[in-house]
Amino acid sequence: MRLGVRGKVFWISAALILLAGIPCELYLERELGHREQHALEEALLRDARIARTALAERGAVRDPNDALALDRIADELGAASRARITLIAHDGTVIGDSALNQAGLRTEENHSQRPEVLSALAGDETVVRRFSTTVNAELFYAAVPWPERAGVIRAATPLSTLDDLATHRRTLLLWTGALGVLIALLFSAIAAQVAASKLDALATGARAVLASGSKRIPISDDEIGRIAGSVNELAEERAKTIAELVKERDRRNAVLQGVNEGLIAIDHESRVELMNPAARMLLGLTTTEPEGRKLVEAIRIPALIELAERGKREAATVEFTHGDPPRHLLGQTTPLRATGGSVLVLHDVTDLRTMEAMRRDLVANVSHELRTPVSIIRANAETLLDGALDDPPQARTFVQAMLRHAERLSNLLSDLLDLARIEGGAYHLVLENVGLRQAAQRALDTLQRTAKARNVAVRIAIDGDLAAYADAQALDQVLVNLLDNAIKYSFEGGAVELSGSLDGERVRMVVSDDGPGIQERHRSRVFERFYRVDAGRSRAVGGTGLGLSIVKHLVSLMHGAVGVDPVAPHGSAFWVSLPGARANSKALADGAAA
Ligand code: ADP
Repeated sequence: MRLGVRGKVFWISAALILLAGIPCELYLERELGHREQHALEEALLRDARIARTALAERGAVRDPNDALALDRIADELGAASRARITLIAHDGTVIGDSALNQAGLRTEENHSQRPEVLSALAGDETVVRRFSTTVNAELFYAAVPWPERAGVIRAATPLSTLDDLATHRRTLLLWTGALGVLIALLFSAIAAQVAASKLDALATGARAVLASGSKRIPISDDEIGRIAGSVNELAEERAKTIAELVKERDRRNAVLQGVNEGLIAIDHESRVELMNPAARMLLGLTTTEPEGRKLVEAIRIPALIELAERGKREAATVEFTHGDPPRHLLGQTTPLRATGGSVLVLHDVTDLRTMEAMRRDLVANVSHELRTPVSIIRANAETLLDGALDDPPQARTFVQAMLRHAERLSNLLSDLLDLARIEGGAYHLVLENVGLRQAAQRALDTLQRTAKARNVAVRIAIDGDLAAYADAQALDQVLVNLLDNAIKYSFEGGAVELSGSLDGERVRMVVSDDGPGIQERHRSRVFERFYRVDAGRSRAVGGTGLGLSIVKHLVSLMHGAVGVDPVAPHGSAFWVSLPGARANSKALADGAAA
């Protein structure tokens, strides 16, 4: 049986009370017994002495032969003291005895050899305990000298007197002891109850403190109060620690949520302990909750699972593609010593890889574009040096070809430089209200000769007050490129129109031609670098394959959009949409751009 504090305190105090009480009782009993015996012996001696005094005062000494009188006095003294008084002459003859009559006295044997008598005759007062043959019982004898008769006066009392006292004493001790024990037990029960209820209150208070971080236990001025104080201090500490942990967790979560890199932590059993939103997005986990699941169940990418496993032992890196459209992911892992697991960082390197591929393509394309004109120029120069110079008409043809290809090279370099400036952010725009009809006219002026050479009629159909919020120079470059293409790629004697209209808050310009048009499958790609529908034709007309790419970049820098639509029955319509003029911008920049 398990005892509570109440039971323990009670039973321990009960055991202590009994352990301490019983020896006390025993000691008391023995000590009192001794005292009573001593008191009895003293009382007997007193009785003997009183008897001696009484005898002296009664003048018993005056009639020494009056045996009857002496015995009567002995009887009286015996009755008064309740002890047996014996008067013994110097020779040991019993001359008076409160317990014997005259006849008895005569038959009483000589007492001279009784030990107490012997010692009293020697002048000592003594008390002896011995068996009396006269009364046939054990007795206490107190004997004192009796100078008047040179005899002995003796007082005796049976041992049973002491026994009676002992019985009485024991009964008293027993009852008082029992009462004492009962009272002590009662008090210890009360003390146990008080201690237990205080502890109960402390336990209830501590539970309340644990359940609610803000509660505190009332403090009393005792040991329990001090414990309550300590519990309150612990609660304060706990609240502080929890607040700090929450702050730390929030900070960590904010970092984990905010970073673009995917983060995954697994434990030694490869269970996902953490996966931040970026990692879920990169791995395409939108619905499932990966935390707590095995990594192999959460994601099914062998390369990544293998990497995470390796990460438990050593740092490692792996690149893999995932998803549709495929993305290039770079996974880096390091061991997590604390948990025996690993932490995995995922970087999306798709853009980097695309850029690298684009750069490679660009170098290949540029080299390819440069090779033809350079080798033609070189071959023509060699032919001229080999003798063609001496044939002026032929020499002229070679030089003209060299000039054409040199121009192509120049165009190519200029377009490449433009692209590099735009992509590198070095092309600074000045946005202002630009009149569209004026801009169209400037473009036409630039290309008037080409148009004439191809016998292409160019018409401008734009309201005089139509304006865009754009960079005049960039807009000129856009329009020149589009108009140049329209003239270049349409048939000889064709017609080109440059029109403009308001489209809500925006303006829309369209350069349409009645040329061969662009097939649907090429339309979305003509704005890519070096993309040509018909490479031979493009080169023949001096194209670089970069014009539309530059147009697209410039338009997007001006917060606009560009596209191409087919024209029935044949032809193309390249359109540009730009923000319309702003009311509070400076006045229309008529012919502002050179
Ligand atoms: P290019 O220097 O070759 O003209 P562009 O980027 O300006 O390069 O144009 C890309 C390709 O788009 C051209 O090679 C041509 O095949 C096609 N293209 C452009 N404009 C027209 C047009 N108005 N009509 C037909 N095809 C066109």
